Amino acid sequence: MTGIIHHPSVPIVAETDILVIGAGSSGCIAALAAARDRDYSVMLVERYGFPGGSSTQMLDTFYGFFTPGTAPVKIVGGLPDQVVSELNRTGDIFLRPNTYGAGTGVNYNPERLKLVWDTLVTRAGIRYLLHTTLVEVVPTANERKCCIFWNKSGFFKVLALRVIDASGDADYCHQSGYGYELAGENEPAQSMTTTFRMCNVDLEKFEAAGGNKMMKERMAEAYASKTHLLPRKEGSAHEMCQPGCISTVAVKVADLRPLDGPDLTKAEMEGRIQSFEYERFFRDKIPGYENSKIIGLSHQIGIRETRRVYGEHRLTKEECLTGAIPENSVFLCGAPIEDHRKGKEGQDETYWEYIPGNGIYGVPYGTLVPRNSTQSWVVGRCFSATHEAHASCRSMAQTMSMGQAAGVAAVLSLRHDCDAREVNVAELRRTLHDLGQILEIPNRQADTSRNGWKNNF
Ligand SMILES: Cc1cc2nc3c(=O)[nH]c(=O)nc-3n(C[C@H](O)[C@H](O)[C@H](O)COP(=O)(O)OP(=O)(O)OC[C@H]3O[C@@H](n4cnc5c(N)ncnc54)[C@H](O)[C@@H]3O)c2cc1C
Repeated sequence: MTGIIHHPSVPIVAETDILVIGAGSSGCIAALAAARDRDYSVMLVERYGFPGGSSTQMLDTFYGFFTPGTAPVKIVGGLPDQVVSELNRTGDIFLRPNTYGAGTGVNYNPERLKLVWDTLVTRAGIRYLLHTTLVEVVPTANERKCCIFWNKSGFFKVLALRVIDASGDADYCHQSGYGYELAGENEPAQSMTTTFRMCNVDLEKFEAAGGNKMMKERMAEAYASKTHLLPRKEGSAHEMCQPGCISTVAVKVADLRPLDGPDLTKAEMEGRIQSFEYERFFRDKIPGYENSKIIGLSHQIGIRETRRVYGEHRLTKEECLTGAIPENSVFLCGAPIEDHRKGKEGQDETYWEYIPGNGIYGVPYGTLVPRNSTQSWVVGRCFSATHEAHASCRSMAQTMSMGQAAGVAAVLSLRHDCDAREVNVAELRRTLHDLGQILEIPNRQADTSRNGWKNNF
C-alpha cells in the first residue's frame, strides 16, 4: 500500500515532536506520559470517534493492576492510577476480587471512561484528533517521520520527530517496514469475542440459585446437549457499575483473520449471532435472567492479537515463567498466560498457566522498540512478544504501563538527542519510579476493599 496515496498535493497540516497513533489504553497513557513536562508538543490521533480502544469499545474491567491469588499485590502505578482516581471521583469504579483467574479486576463504567480519557488528554495540552485513520507512512530524507492520515476532511500529512505506534494492529510499524509475526503464523491465533451487556438482571436471585458455579454448569449442559448453540462450555458474566447490568466475555469466533476485510465482516456477523443465542440461553436457563435483554454489543468484535512486532527484545514464555525482574525492566506483570484458543475438539476452552514463585516478572524496555528503530516505539497488544508471552502480558494495566514507558522514553530521546535504542534505561526507570510506577516486588499485600483506591492500597 505504501506510495499509493503519497502525492505532493496532500497537504502537511501539522508538525509535532511526538506523534501517538491510536488512543487505546496504551496510546492515551503514552501521550499523557510524553506531554507530562510540556517540554515537547504531542499529538494523539484515533480512528474512532471516542478514545479508549478496547477499554471502552468492549470492556469494563482493568486486569493486571494486581497479581492473582488469595493475597493480591498491586504491581502497576503512576499515570494508570490517575485514570482510576478520576473514575473513582464519580463513583464509576469498584474492585472485583480474584474472579475468573485473572486476579482482582478494577471494574469501571466504560462510558464514563471515554469522558475521563478525553479530559485527561485535553487537560495535558495534547493535540487530539478523533475520526482520523493512519493510512500510509512516507519515507523521508530528513529527520522527521511523515504519516498520512485520512478523515472526512480528506488526506493530510503529519510530520513528527518521534512516533509511538499504539494502533493495536501495528499499522504504523507495518507501513514503515518493521518486521513482525502475524498471529496464526506459528500457533493458532487467539479467538475473537463480541462482548455484550444485559440489563434487568436480578443478581440476588442469580446468587441465591448458585451464582457463577450454577451458570457454568448450565453453560456446559447447553453446550453438550445443543439446546442452545453456544460456541464453548465456559464463558464469564459479571456485574457492572450500572445496577442490574452484566457484561460478558463468552462469544468465541475463531479461524477468521482480523486483518482481512471479508473475514472481519464475517466475524462481526458471527459475533452478533452468537450474542443473541447467548441471550436466549440466559433467559431460558439462568435464574435471575428471565426478564433481561441485551442492551449493547461491543462497538466492534474484540481482537486479541494480530501483528506482534519484532523488537530489540522479544518477551518469551520462558522469561515470564522464570519470574525474574531484569535490570532493564520498565514495568511488571503478574497475569497468567490466558490463551483463548481456537475451537478445536478437546481443547476448545481457555488455557491458563500461572507465573510460579512470586508470580511476578519484569518486562524489558527493548520489547517496546521495534528492531533497528531510531525514532519509533510500539506499545500495547502489538508489542514484541511470542504468542504465549503475549497471552500473559496483554491486560490493560500492562498496556498502559507500556504506554507510560514509551512516552517517557520518547521525551528522553528528544532531550538527549539520542535514538530509541540508546535511551538510558536507568534514567528511564528513575523517571518511571518518580511517576509512581512499581518496578520492584512490593512487600505489602494489597487492600482489596471497595474503597481501596482512595486509600492508595
Ligand atoms: C475480547 C477481549 C477481552 C479482553 N478482556 C480484558 C479484560 O477484561 N481486562 C483487561 O485488562 N484486558 C482484557 N483484554 C486485553 C486488552 O483489552 C487489550 O490487550 C488492550 O486493551 C490493548 O490495548 P491497546 O492500546 O494495545 O489496543 P487497543 O485498545 O486496540 O487500541 C488501539 C487503538 O488504536 C486505534 N487505531 C487502530 N488503527 C488505527 C489507525 N490506523 N489509525 C488511527 N487509529 C487506529 C483503535 O481504534 C484503538 O482505539 C481483552 C481483549 C479482548 C479482545
